[in-house]
Amino acid sequence: MKKIEHIGIAVKDLEKSNQVFASLFGKPHYKIEEVVSEGVKTSFFKSGPNKIELLEATKPDSPIAKFIEKKGEGIHHIAFAVKDIKAEIKRLQEEGFTVLNETPKKGADNKLVAFLHPKTTNGVLIELCQEIE
Ligand code: ZN
Repeated sequence: MKKIEHIGIAVKDLEKSNQVFASLFGKPHYKIEEVVSEGVKTSFFKSGPNKIELLEATKPDSPIAKFIEKKGEGIHHIAFAVKDIKAEIKRLQEEGFTVLNETPKKGADNKLVAFLHPKTTNGVLIELCQEIE
């Protein structure tokens, strides 16, 4: 793994939260993207070298809707940039982690992504992401 690529925060109302985080960082989001397959609408902020992704559910059975129902708004996942996502998935499975999707899928922001189940990572949902070239 290379570095933290971004931190994902689950929100109920993307428009309102965009204003909150724009005030926090002193500049607006630079991108909004819907990932229809995941039932999620995302926005991205930059703060120095760091990136924050806000996620709002677009349908009631979206993973984000379920997360907010259970835990409320807040940090949803930490994403790590990887060079070779398939190799990393294989390595982590061999280490005993539960990978939620063995085949990487297309996520927001031009990335191939895979998630590790929080039960094998101390309660933290981990996203692996590889830039699509
Ligand atoms: Zn993410």
